[in-house]
Amino acid sequence: MFECVFKFQGLDVEIAPDALETMLAHRQRGFFSSEAGGQMFARLSPGKWRIEVATGPRHGDRRGRFHFWPNRKAEQDEINSYFKQGLDFVGDWHTHPENRPHPSSDDYRSVANIVRESTHELPGMLMCIVGRENPPDGLWMSFHLRDGKVATVQYPDGAAPNKESYRRRKFI
Ligand SMILES: [Zn+2]
Repeated sequence: MFECVFKFQGLDVEIAPDALETMLAHRQRGFFSSEAGGQMFARLSPGKWRIEVATGPRHGDRRGRFHFWPNRKAEQDEINSYFKQGLDFVGDWHTHPENRPHPSSDDYRSVANIVRESTHELPGMLMCIVGRENPPDGLWMSFHLRDGKVATVQYPDGAAPNKESYRRRKFI
């Protein structure tokens, strides 16, 4: 198990071990396993977001959350509940049946909608995609900024996705 830190311009995003474990537990290992997903909640400090909680799939999620209309009531309940614990909703995660995942055009549309529709003060939202390989190669993380109505993606330090896009260290 690693701690992962994704470096964006002006922002480090860390996935804490517990949250990473939740996401990896739902990896689409088998041919017939279905997509899973949930929300990510982070403790925010200047220059750093630490994702401490990744919620798992809710009852009734049959396919990837990006392929059907989400249950906004349940999502909002989750957001309110974690907010009371000092954790902000920072984006969604979901699984892909790929070794090294890449967002689909639907994924880009979905995260752009979330950025556009969300009413919080954050500069943007994260999208995490969990593939089959172990981290770091099996994880996609992108940061979608408010840019008028267009969400843009920044890769850490200009690096290609899945390559040199984070530091990793042994989890003690
Ligand atoms: Zn996807």
